[in-house]
Amino acid sequence: MNVSALIAGVLAREPRAVARAISLVEDGDEGLAALSAGIYERTGGAATIGLTGAPGVGKSTLATALVRQARREGRRVAVLAVDPTSPYTGGALLGDRVRMQEHATDPDVFIRSMATRGHLGGMALATPEAVRILDAAGYDLVIVETVGVGQAEIEVAAATDTALVVLAPGLGDAVQMAKAGILEIADVFVVNKGDREGAAEVQRELRQMLHLGAALPWEPPVLETTATTDEGVDELWLAIARHRAHLDATGSLRVRRHARTLQEVEALAAERFRHATVRALAADGDLADRLRVRTIDPYAAADELLRRTANDR
Ligand code: GDP
Repeated sequence: MNVSALIAGVLAREPRAVARAISLVEDGDEGLAALSAGIYERTGGAATIGLTGAPGVGKSTLATALVRQARREGRRVAVLAVDPTSPYTGGALLGDRVRMQEHATDPDVFIRSMATRGHLGGMALATPEAVRILDAAGYDLVIVETVGVGQAEIEVAAATDTALVVLAPGLGDAVQMAKAGILEIADVFVVNKGDREGAAEVQRELRQMLHLGAALPWEPPVLETTATTDEGVDELWLAIARHRAHLDATGSLRVRRHARTLQEVEALAAERFRHATVRALAADGDLADRLRVRTIDPYAAADELLRRTANDR
């Protein structure tokens, strides 16, 4: 595996190199550190949008509509569909094939599903690196779509510049969403399937819940769309732009991104340290024996292990 050639391919915007690099992230390949080092300088330019909500609310359909909007403005756009529950998707969910039909021949659109196989720390840690690969490959908009509303998916969505939370009549009501902690991460709420009965009710319920909260510097708007007919998608696109302008004007884009990077570094270091500790303990028969005959207690054993792991690295 020639990582330098891969880096060159990514920076030269070759879709095959980009796909290959994302596979490296999924696998937690040992070339990942070199890949990251080779592209990091060339990242930071892409805007990111998160799309999260219960399965079936219309996230894939909305993502396709947003791709269309971005293309109208001549922007290069990538969609990363993140599935933390599936160990392996083979790079294509059903949604991909549907979307591919519309954008298959467009060289400025890249669509890819991602599942985690070997990456330590799972999806929440794998996604930022995959986004950076797309960023380095010159996609100026990256849409990160999650499959459902599990904890890992909420984390992934929260790590974007503008997080869209999607609801639809009959699917994942606002009370459930509040319990899952998903309402807090929303920058924009989208009630999709506006053509269905109950859409107005979902919005009313949502607005009521939001009004219980404290006043915020950015009040997340509640918008209605019908993704299948593009109804409301222009307004959604405008709301995304408004949110971005708010982030720029207040300086919070820089602050948010930097805080995210620090969190990522902390999580990466912790994850590596944890694995080193597990390995060290498994390899140390002597420590296990001393624990068994009670000549060392668990706290002292943990200290000893910590010292050794720190020295080994
Ligand atoms: P996801 O699981 O959240 O990605 O949802 P999909 O985008 O795959 O949509 C699930 C189903 O709902 C598909 O059959 C879509 O065609 C349909 N759908 C999406 N948006 C709308 C909408 O606004 N109105 C109606 N009636 N159906 C929609």
